[in-house]
Amino acid sequence: RKWVYLFTEGDASMRELLGGKGANLAEMTNIGLPVPQGFTITTEACTQYYEDGREINAEIMGQIEEHIKKMEEITGKKFGDHENPLLVSVRSGARASMPGMMDTILNLGLNEDVVRVIAEKSGNPRWAWDCYRRFIQMYSDVVMEVGKKYFEELIDKMKEKKGVKQDVELSAEDLHELAEQFKAEYKEKIGKDFPTDPKEQLFGAIKAVFRSWDNPRANVYRRDNDIPYSWGTAVNVQSMAFGNMGDDCGTGVAFTRDPATGNKGLFGEFLTNAQGEDVVAGVRTPMHINEMEQKFPEAFKQFTEVCSTLEKHYRDMQDMEFTVEHGKLYMLQTRNGKRTAQAALKIACDLVDEGMRTEEEAVAMIDPRNLDTLLHPQFDQKALKAATPLGKGLGASPGAACGKVVFSADDAEAWAARGEKVVLVRLETSPEDITGMKVAQGILTVRGGMTSHAAVVARGMGTCCVAGLGDIVMDEANKKFTLGGKTFHEGDAISIDGTTGNVYEGIIPTVDASIAGEFGRIMGWADKYRKLAVRTNADTPQDAKKARELGAEGIGLCRTEHMFFDPERIFAFREMIVSDTKEEREEALEKILPFQQGDFEALYEALEGNPVTIRFLDPPLHEFVPQEEEEIEKLAKAKNKTVQEIKDIITSLHEFNPMMGHRGLRLAVTYPEIAVMQTKAVIRAAINVQKKHPDWKLEPEIMIPLTSEVKEFNVVKKVVVETAEEEIKKAGVKLAYQVGTMIEIPRACLTADEIAKEADFFCFGTNDLTQMTFGFSRDDAGKFLNAYYDNKIFESDPFAKLDQVGVGKLMKMAIDLGRPVNPHLHVGICGEHGGDPSSVEFCHNIGLDYVSCSPFRVPVARLAAAQAEI
Ligand code: PEP
Ligand code: MG
Repeated sequence: RKWVYLFTEGDASMRELLGGKGANLAEMTNIGLPVPQGFTITTEACTQYYEDGREINAEIMGQIEEHIKKMEEITGKKFGDHENPLLVSVRSGARASMPGMMDTILNLGLNEDVVRVIAEKSGNPRWAWDCYRRFIQMYSDVVMEVGKKYFEELIDKMKEKKGVKQDVELSAEDLHELAEQFKAEYKEKIGKDFPTDPKEQLFGAIKAVFRSWDNPRANVYRRDNDIPYSWGTAVNVQSMAFGNMGDDCGTGVAFTRDPATGNKGLFGEFLTNAQGEDVVAGVRTPMHINEMEQKFPEAFKQFTEVCSTLEKHYRDMQDMEFTVEHGKLYMLQTRNGKRTAQAALKIACDLVDEGMRTEEEAVAMIDPRNLDTLLHPQFDQKALKAATPLGKGLGASPGAACGKVVFSADDAEAWAARGEKVVLVRLETSPEDITGMKVAQGILTVRGGMTSHAAVVARGMGTCCVAGLGDIVMDEANKKFTLGGKTFHEGDAISIDGTTGNVYEGIIPTVDASIAGEFGRIMGWADKYRKLAVRTNADTPQDAKKARELGAEGIGLCRTEHMFFDPERIFAFREMIVSDTKEEREEALEKILPFQQGDFEALYEALEGNPVTIRFLDPPLHEFVPQEEEEIEKLAKAKNKTVQEIKDIITSLHEFNPMMGHRGLRLAVTYPEIAVMQTKAVIRAAINVQKKHPDWKLEPEIMIPLTSEVKEFNVVKKVVVETAEEEIKKAGVKLAYQVGTMIEIPRACLTADEIAKEADFFCFGTNDLTQMTFGFSRDDAGKFLNAYYDNKIFESDPFAKLDQVGVGKLMKMAIDLGRPVNPHLHVGICGEHGGDPSSVEFCHNIGLDYVSCSPFRVPVARLAAAQAEI
């Protein structure tokens, strides 16, 4: 098998094999752009490395050796050579770009001898030693995992000793001395000398890239972004171009459009006399890309041409890395740039208007998971106007966040676990911070630009971020910082605005986002192409209204138990529970009836004639009984019972496993009067609203939860039908209605042909279906799922992302059994999976009629449904 490809042997279509970076380096080479040449080791080699017990086997080794030779021929340089030494960069590159993995090692191939050679040949010893100390530092950090901080401390000490502020002010001798100190540090930490053989260095680096595929950060990132572990990462070995050889050199990162707003125009940063990592790491604050024109007119002109070529070629906004070596431009990377949700919508619409993309392609370009961020709160404008910013950084990832200040990722996690809202404040962030960044409301950094780690990662997560607020005086050791004359300690409240970059003291209230413009256009296109209907899970008219605004076409699930918890109602409900006779129970239920009816009327009004599915009472009764002595006494008094008698009833309701206990339609089997009351409420509400709005065609959908056997369904259905018919007759009107069931127990899937004969519709309750299929308690699984991720048993939470193999098979079976016996059967899903893009796609593929999800996920589902069809 071919494990290694020269850049000249690949192209953009080989992303799966060569990874995104490798495929694009090949493509750029093909279209004649200036790319330092090299080779890509395939993602399959990574998978093989794991299969071989984390070893690179002889065949792959051999091919790498072969390609080193070829690379030496192409470049005319040789590893370790004393005339013309080859220096390379080594970068990881998965199919989807993945922060959290090993990123880059530069200047590989250096040792004392080679440094002297390049120092002499270039006449630039400062550059040579700078390369060497950088290489030792990076190699120690990413290959050998000696912490960065030891080296940074040595640099700081050196700068202090020399009385200088910036790295660039250090002399060749200083850097030479630093390199020696670094090597000593390496030896102390690793117990061996720093490797001098370039091939040994290279194989070490390649292994480190493969290894980084499986590091905890990468695993967390993959889980969040639906990237399968089985993909593996490629490794790119590329000959170096040097941006740190002097003032006629530099390095930059740029986007063809603004990744925050989507506005057209070059956007990015440039640093003279620097290497790539300096821009991204935020060590020095870079200049705006447009300022490059004055310093490097030729390279800049060429670069803008390359930008336009690449954008036209990929028909998407590009994110590029490049280096200028003695005034000459080299392209190091291009990819479709990460962008905020807002920018994604704008860019997609603009590309359609510019004739580069079709509507379908535009819809397919938007990551549905990012839409959330558009729907998230912004600061209340009035409160914001009244507030004075303490400082202003870069608005790196939009949105509004407020919370208590914490200074480390660990603290962010600990505080968030206690239910605190936190803003993570860091000098700069690095991939180790990812878990902390995830739980934070917002991220604020002192250093770094719009392409810094913090900015890029926050945008990806949709978390508000202000970056590069250099006015902050940071005292990490004592967990405090000063800004605008105020000192903030851990736990003090701040608010940050990821759009403007402003930072405020205290908590500024937020308001819901409003959506319009491009969002509406894209959603319109999505609706045009999707087949799957999208409903919402809503229990209140407010939620239902919100969902309607967001495009819901009906209610797929109204959990009626949420309507019993109101203080007035719960007392009546408790009276019902502790009743001894049917009459007593009915009397209590009679008190609840008007409330339920009112709730349902409001829902019908909010839905304006669109379908409404009302799910009958589901949770076990013990959830409703009082716990507090005072409440128990009150109930005893009302029911003319002793406190002890009430307590005995409460005890008798206790269940060892309530999730598998007396809940769902089992309640209606034992207490049919509950179903009677709920049916009356639904039918009366529908009749009333229908009278008010003769042009709406209401057809109530009554949904019976937790069916496992057709006979139990029939017992409840009979109660519902008899009650409904009586109500309709009494009212003297015509009203069609449906009685369907949730499918959330494996046995219901297995016997769906029997159930479908009786049910008008199926709605998959995949929360329970997942619970019952795995036998995992949905309330407790969180406690052990982490161990399942660590052991690679699961790549994602089956309660969030549908298990298509098992649970999905049951769903498919239910549809295949149900539809033939009942051609009118309509089928939906209302478990949490109904708002998860990959699960929505699966639902589309197995032929569901609709998905139902929480209001804010409705746009996500609409888009995912369209993408499934396109
Ligand atoms: C389900 O089980 O998927 C469902 C929607 O019902 P609930 O979450 O109320 O049990
Ligand atoms: Mg359920």
